[in-house]
Amino acid sequence: MIDTPQFMPVGTNATVKALDPDDLVEVGASIVLANTYHLYLRPGHERIERLGGLHRFMGWDMPILTDSGGYQVVSLADAREVDDDGATFRSHIDGATHRLTPELAIGVQEALGPDIAVAFDHPVFPSSPRAEVEAAMERTHRWAERSLAAHTRPDQALFGIIQGGVDPEFRERSTRFIASMPFDGICIGGLAGDETPVERATALDVVVPILDGDPRPRYLMGLGSPADILDAVRLGVDLFDSVLPARVARNGQLWVPGGKLNLRNSAFQDDPRPVQEGCPCRLCRSFSRAYLAHLFRAKELLAFRLATCHNLTFTLDFMGRIRAALRAGTFPESLASLREYAGRQTAGAADVEPA
Ligand SMILES: [Zn+2]
Repeated sequence: MIDTPQFMPVGTNATVKALDPDDLVEVGASIVLANTYHLYLRPGHERIERLGGLHRFMGWDMPILTDSGGYQVVSLADAREVDDDGATFRSHIDGATHRLTPELAIGVQEALGPDIAVAFDHPVFPSSPRAEVEAAMERTHRWAERSLAAHTRPDQALFGIIQGGVDPEFRERSTRFIASMPFDGICIGGLAGDETPVERATALDVVVPILDGDPRPRYLMGLGSPADILDAVRLGVDLFDSVLPARVARNGQLWVPGGKLNLRNSAFQDDPRPVQEGCPCRLCRSFSRAYLAHLFRAKELLAFRLATCHNLTFTLDFMGRIRAALRAGTFPESLASLREYAGRQTAGAADVEPA
């Protein structure tokens, strides 16, 4: 069982970039996400299966969720052709042509052996033309049925994906359709894209009431900033994943209560304080802002590990604060202070002053 609301660090290539499994335990991760698309292309799901499955391969014996590959096929691989049978795409690694179908996406995930697999879907950007959003949603529904039919491992949970863009009518149809099927969890796909926060909230306001009383976890795919996560928890979402905290960490952006520090700012070169006073992470326990600023300037690899440890510790600690408030029954009155703690760490938000 996973404590929710929960955040899943993303291990695209069967590794959360720059961290090993001991680091992941230390930052507080209890489940990680790995990408079906990437592992299918390299090193290949059959190879991972021969080597004992994904848990053994990556040295992580706690829960793993693999996504379906649908998002990467459309976003990363320049899908050449999506038809009712499946999606033909070019590998981002070598340009070779591949074809994924719902049956193959499930077969790949059964070979990889995560605890949670996800049905193959056809995501589109929320801002896509209405007819395109509807067609992709209908296709996602047919693929959900085929994914369920193809799934044979009783020891592996299978989640279905709701699509429908930001159109309330489509969202309602998709939620009712996916919720009526015997999936073990419900993914809310097609958000955390180019929609506005208001459009996202409007879509969630349609989805969540339909799932009221349904005990299955609700997973909003791809949302990563603490402030956005807090808003989605308030609207009833349980599970999140994003590359965001780790990606911005590798660029020198460190998340702290109320905002972020940009360690590439020269003002930090003489700052003896830890990035965040009292933070239990590997970085803040032992090193100063000045040292991390130096590592980034010198392009030392350790900068990536330490910064990633900090941002994931911050994010997972924040999830713990949300869970504590929910358990104590104080979430509504804690919302303002949680929002202040989360700050706005997304790109473009104001830096916290170094002084
Ligand atoms: Zn820290």
